[in-house]
Amino acid sequence: MRALGNGRHQVDFAHGTTVVADLLIGADGAWSRVRPLLSEAVPEYFGVCSVETFLFDAGTRHPASAEAVGAGSLFALAPGRGLLAHREGGGTLHTYAQLKKPRDWFAGLDATDAAALTVRVAKEFDGWVPELTALITDSDTPPVLRPIFTLPAGHRWDRIPGVTPLGDAAHLRAPNGEGANLAMQDGAELGRALAAHPGDTEAALAAHEQAMFARAAAMEADDDGFYTIMIDDNAPHSLLGRSRFCGA
Ligand SMILES: Cc1cc2nc3c(=O)[nH]c(=O)nc-3n(C[C@H](O)[C@H](O)[C@H](O)COP(=O)(O)OP(=O)(O)OC[C@H]3O[C@@H](n4cnc5c(N)ncnc54)[C@H](O)[C@@H]3O)c2cc1C
Repeated sequence: MRALGNGRHQVDFAHGTTVVADLLIGADGAWSRVRPLLSEAVPEYFGVCSVETFLFDAGTRHPASAEAVGAGSLFALAPGRGLLAHREGGGTLHTYAQLKKPRDWFAGLDATDAAALTVRVAKEFDGWVPELTALITDSDTPPVLRPIFTLPAGHRWDRIPGVTPLGDAAHLRAPNGEGANLAMQDGAELGRALAAHPGDTEAALAAHEQAMFARAAAMEADDDGFYTIMIDDNAPHSLLGRSRFCGA
């Protein structure tokens, strides 16, 4: 990405093509290449690694796990580790194993070695009932390692003509169930702002970014440390103590 002046940017793609744009929108996620044009912020490791697995046709092929997860979501939480599983269409069980681990832990793993990764993650849940450990060991897909990174809370930048990031590129936070919604809303609101300011892209971007900053701040305030307390030292009691999450 290269600023050409007057709000224009050049984007060079790895396969050799180049485009010059009057408006460059960074919808390119956590490791955005567009964001550095506006901000020096770099995502930092949050201290939790998530490992994603899927069990297909669970009612027939994995009945004990299907019964344990039930019709909705399962949270099995302990200090430093937890299993978050939920049921999706077609009898799929989708699981995130959560592990509080230093950066060295996942840096030392070969994420492409599915069998070794499965064994390593399952070991963290040694002694847990088999219908829960099967959510890891019986996965129908290779486990996917997802270390969680975040941008600083309240991430902001000064307006730079002709470029704007949105979604995770703008406000990457620990998963709280809203990231995808927020990214899609950012895109829709940006479109609306451009339509409301014909011929004045800068006015549209300025209005859009202020509204996006406010939406992201509201989400940060609302998640209330949800992701951290799930597997803190007092788990599962910390989450149970937050009646707003548990409907108590
Ligand atoms: C473990 C985990 C669980 C989550 N659970 C939920 C949930 O339950 N609900 C929810 O709402 N959110 C959830 N999220 C968050 C959600 O996934 C993100 O907030 C959302 O995907 C952000 O969308 P985005 O379009 O901004 O970025 P992304 O979805 O990351 O999309 C960016 C796209 O840009 C592409 N890209 C990046 N760089 C380049 C490049 N240089 N050239 C070309 N393409 C590029 C990427 O390949 C990618 O396709 C979860 C996240 C994690 C890690």
